[in-house]
Amino acid sequence: MKNVTVIGAGTMGNGIAHVFAQSGFNVTLVDVREEALEKALGTIGRNLDRLIKKEKISEADKTTTLERIGTSTDIALGSASADLVVEAATERIDLKLSLFKAMDAAAPSHCILATNTSSISITEIAAATGRPEQVIGMHFMNPVPVMKLIEVIRGYATSDDTCQRVMALSQSLGKTPVEVNDYPGFVANRILMPMINEAIITLQEGVATVDAIDTVMKLGMAHPMGPLQLADFIGLDVCLSILRVLHEGLGQPKYAPCPLLVNMVNAGHLGVKSGQGFYVHTPGSKDLVVAPFFQ
Ligand code: NAD
Repeated sequence: MKNVTVIGAGTMGNGIAHVFAQSGFNVTLVDVREEALEKALGTIGRNLDRLIKKEKISEADKTTTLERIGTSTDIALGSASADLVVEAATERIDLKLSLFKAMDAAAPSHCILATNTSSISITEIAAATGRPEQVIGMHFMNPVPVMKLIEVIRGYATSDDTCQRVMALSQSLGKTPVEVNDYPGFVANRILMPMINEAIITLQEGVATVDAIDTVMKLGMAHPMGPLQLADFIGLDVCLSILRVLHEGLGQPKYAPCPLLVNMVNAGHLGVKSGQGFYVHTPGSKDLVVAPFFQ
């Protein structure tokens, strides 16, 4: 594999383009919005600068990495010579199904089509294409250049060959791939989201404060960040939508989203992206200030 197309240049797409380019692949980054492509290239440049500062790469490495990334706003043009397409566009099933139809029509027949979805069924996405055996989940973690894990998700029809090639490819990026099967939430979110939900229920019931809950999990379980702070980073809307997928897909009341989480999303308090969730997030400040509602 040499040519990789990444669809969606947002939070995840820019990181995915970055790691492929830094590992020597030719990358085409595709987004419907020109400004998203410009912003992504800026972010990749700044992240490479950080690696130069830490003496992990040279100026020349930065230049070659950036030279390997082309951009396009046309999905057909962008996928025409791809050996692998990784879709990292907005988490909406209708959008993913139509993108996979377009990718299937445009990409060469040998091309593997991967999705970075957090919660949508790989099997359902694969069924929208004429090559379901070549469709797979590549669930990168945020921030992509830093996090080692790739959850590799086999859909119902994914072939052994596709899976083996994606596992080997993931290793060539310096990542650790883990193979899992396609059930709601896969492994990462099936375990993480109920923990976050339980932390919110614990807060709602007045068992402990925001700070107390996060401190217990940080110091007691050696988690780098507490579940409420992590929820703010992931986005409370994203947490809610994944919990709904778990609740609907697995059919058990234990996955029902906490009413406090629903209220916060309805109020537009989404965490880092909206400036406030369980904590107040001021750009440029690393101070952890509990949101006024919880003080
Ligand atoms: P984001 O909102 O930051 O970026 C999505 C990008 O997709 C935007 O730039 C948008 O313009 C673009 N887009 C929308 N429609 C498009 C189309 N038709 N063609 C091309 N581009 C299009 O979202 P994100 O956080 O990067 O998430 C992307 C995917 O990665 C989602 O499936 C999400 O579930 C998954 N994911 C996110 C995280 C995370 O922590 N943010 C972690 C793992 C997986």
